[in-house]
Amino acid sequence: MSQRALVTGAGGFIGSHLVSYLRQQGWWVCGVDQKRPEFADSDADEFIVGDLRDAEVARAACEGIDEIYALAADMGGMGFISRDPATILHNNALININTIRAAQLAGVSRYFLASSACIYPEHIQSTPDATALREVDAFPANPQDSYGWEKLMAELLCRYYREQHGMEIRIARYHNIYGPNGTYDGGREKAPAAMCRKVALAGENGSIEVWGDGSQTRSFCYVDDCVEGTYRLMRSDCRVPLNIGSDRLVTIDELARLVFDAASRDDLDIEHIEGPQGVRGRNSDNTLLRETLGWEPKIPLEKGLLETYQWISGKLTAASAS
Ligand code: NAD
Repeated sequence: MSQRALVTGAGGFIGSHLVSYLRQQGWWVCGVDQKRPEFADSDADEFIVGDLRDAEVARAACEGIDEIYALAADMGGMGFISRDPATILHNNALININTIRAAQLAGVSRYFLASSACIYPEHIQSTPDATALREVDAFPANPQDSYGWEKLMAELLCRYYREQHGMEIRIARYHNIYGPNGTYDGGREKAPAAMCRKVALAGENGSIEVWGDGSQTRSFCYVDDCVEGTYRLMRSDCRVPLNIGSDRLVTIDELARLVFDAASRDDLDIEHIEGPQGVRGRNSDNTLLRETLGWEPKIPLEKGLLETYQWISGKLTAASAS
């Protein structure tokens, strides 16, 4: 009989891709989320619609499960993260406390936590020429916002469950994951999806708005690399948190221009406006990732943005036709 995996947040962007990937690897997969995937049917064998802030929902979802991928979180791009700090900490803490407790009671053999580059201290990310973040840089802690503090707390919760209950835990710190089937409007979308939407909707010789002066930097990792890295990490012996991200640093203006290229639009301009920017510069140091997994993300940003742009512009075209 195939092994049984539970993916929490299976109705979300990375979770829905992970469900499909695990099915391809031969796993029986249950998904749990408060909503079903927005853009395509879930590939999960079973899908529970439920709120993991309720401990009973978490307990029922973990029953009979061998491995858990904990991805559920109340989250969004910079606009969302900076707007509702108390709600984010409250909701995500409840989700993670309930899920790991249920996993321990169910006796699962392995537990994965989706953490974030947002756990890294704000004061070492204050310039655009960002020094790539190593896993050891997490402490002394000073995450930028409540989302980052909660992720760090969830990492510690995992560590203490390992120490006290002997659980096998794997933790990835994702760095800006993007790709098709992600939110692209409504306020929770991240920069690559927002830019693809703006470019797709821009009139001839128009411009797209970019928050800040555009010289803030990030690295972006395509979702297929993210799920492959997640699975490789889960199968590895690595018991410490590991970055999963690209180490190619680009400015937000460069990202916008790459989206112009993906859309074959040389008529567009960038307009800088006031808006939340997050840290000034952030990159992933992949030294430990390479040493531990013998692998790192490989899909070029140009290729990933082309896939993402085509998917988002296709969605917008279909919506305007209906
Ligand atoms: P997402 O918002 O698309 O998916 C999260 C899912 O969790 C959503 O479908 C949401 O409905 C679900 N959820 C929220 N509250 C819930 C609740 N109370 N009960 C049940 N389900 C609930 O986000 P994503 O981009 O797929 O991110 C997945 C995970 O990876 C999250 O933990 C996120 O913090 C982490 N992460 C993502 C990125 C990124 O760039 N996308 C970067 C760092 C970390």
